[in-house]
Amino acid sequence: MATPTPRPKFLDGGPKKMLIGGEWVPAASGKTFATIDPATEQKLADVCEGDKDDVDRAVVAARRAFESGPWSKMSASERGQIVWRIGDLIEKNKDELALLDTLDNGKPIFETTYVDTVLAADIFRYYGGFATKIHGETIPVAGSFLNYTLREPVGVCGQIIPWNFPLLMASWKLAPALGAGNCVVLKPAEQTPLSALRLAELCLEAGVPPGVVNVIPGFGPTAGAAVARHRGIDKVAFTGSTEVGKIVMREAAENCKKVSLELGGKSPNIILQDADIDAALKGVMMGMFFNQGEVCCAGSRLFVHKSIKDEFVGKLAEHAKKLKVGNPLDPETRMGAQVSEEQYDRILGFIKAGKEQGAKALCGGDSARATAGGGKGYFIQPTVFDGVNDGMKIAREEIFGPVIAALPFDDLDEIVARANDTPYGLAAGVWTKDIDKAHYLARKVKAGTIWVNCYNQFDAASPFGGFKESGFGREMGIHALELYTQVKSVWVRVRPQGK
Ligand code: ADP
Repeated sequence: MATPTPRPKFLDGGPKKMLIGGEWVPAASGKTFATIDPATEQKLADVCEGDKDDVDRAVVAARRAFESGPWSKMSASERGQIVWRIGDLIEKNKDELALLDTLDNGKPIFETTYVDTVLAADIFRYYGGFATKIHGETIPVAGSFLNYTLREPVGVCGQIIPWNFPLLMASWKLAPALGAGNCVVLKPAEQTPLSALRLAELCLEAGVPPGVVNVIPGFGPTAGAAVARHRGIDKVAFTGSTEVGKIVMREAAENCKKVSLELGGKSPNIILQDADIDAALKGVMMGMFFNQGEVCCAGSRLFVHKSIKDEFVGKLAEHAKKLKVGNPLDPETRMGAQVSEEQYDRILGFIKAGKEQGAKALCGGDSARATAGGGKGYFIQPTVFDGVNDGMKIAREEIFGPVIAALPFDDLDEIVARANDTPYGLAAGVWTKDIDKAHYLARKVKAGTIWVNCYNQFDAASPFGGFKESGFGREMGIHALELYTQVKSVWVRVRPQGK
């Protein structure tokens, strides 16, 4: 018997409003849009639909809060404690936040409970701790001067986030911006606006003053574009597709905003001849099928040494067949629904192209709507393609779904060239027991993150970001503070000795 879907109280009480200047308000246009549960295709809630006018209001509120509000006068220690408290509140409300993301995105409750919410709480604590450790330096310049630097917040930051990790992406963006003393206008993805709105409530509860965090749900070409181009916004941080990243960058040129972009990927996961096969299989499974493959750094190009390729790919297909795809609310589920009908159709289009170009699906290769969703929902079977070559569409383009392309290789330098033969450069995996080859590949592969004998490892302290068309700027770690602070050099004439 099907268990009834739990409904968080947060969803009751009419359309979800947007947060501007500490107040929950409707859109200036009065418009709303529906957000749906991709596992059931049912509406979850109506959400107020922000556009340019709402972004304008939010920027005014953020500017006021930045220039003259309590946030601007607060000590770093007080600010840090508030940011830390947001992490505590995420932990306290973890079950509700996990449920909201699972309902809104379709990802397994197992993941939202043990990964998304945990990492989200952690990053607020990390940057809460950093608030008191952001400082300038004194520089031994020539002449009779004292030269020192001030590291100041950038000001009003626009942040545009995707739908694949709704709470976590909001947290990666908000935590460093707030820790460094900025004010924010956040635009969540139209597919998954709910957890960002709940997180905004928690920010207020933690003591974030009005106007410091503003959240404007809405669509990309309207609300998103208004954020990217707004002259009152000093910096824009974007995570999403490379295509839209380029648009954001062009729009940001309007007032020379600082820009950081975390974009797409087609990451190579490389299995050398001497790899621990069982460990590599687990790593490849997680690297590809975690979050239904809706991960920008998914290891979607699987390079396996030709001597072990058939054995490895055969075993991989056996593992993939056993993956439990189904109701995201079932704690045993390891792959839920794709986020939207648009993504579902897109992924099936890639699978079709793979078959048409001659690749062979060793497992999957079709919708899982009937088996996993009882005829409803955007479910897709985990798919392992063999017989792929580097030129095929499934080997070149980002699919953002549970589809892996296996490619044999022969020697180390060949694999370096082929791994790098992509416009992307977000991440790569290397599986080997040979320390020399591991470090050689770590140096040679052009990507922002290299995982050796592991995959998809993240920590608030470790930087993440792309090479090439996977973007620029590093989130997390000390590096994200570069994105959210700017340096001022102060020169003071000092009386020379003996004068
Ligand atoms: P996807 O294709 O995976 O949905 P997108 O890059 O389209 O990813 O979306 C990521 C985020 O960018 C979302 O919040 C979306 O609303 C926003 N977005 C889409 N188009 C634009 C645009 N033209 N300007 C600014 N933001 C946009």
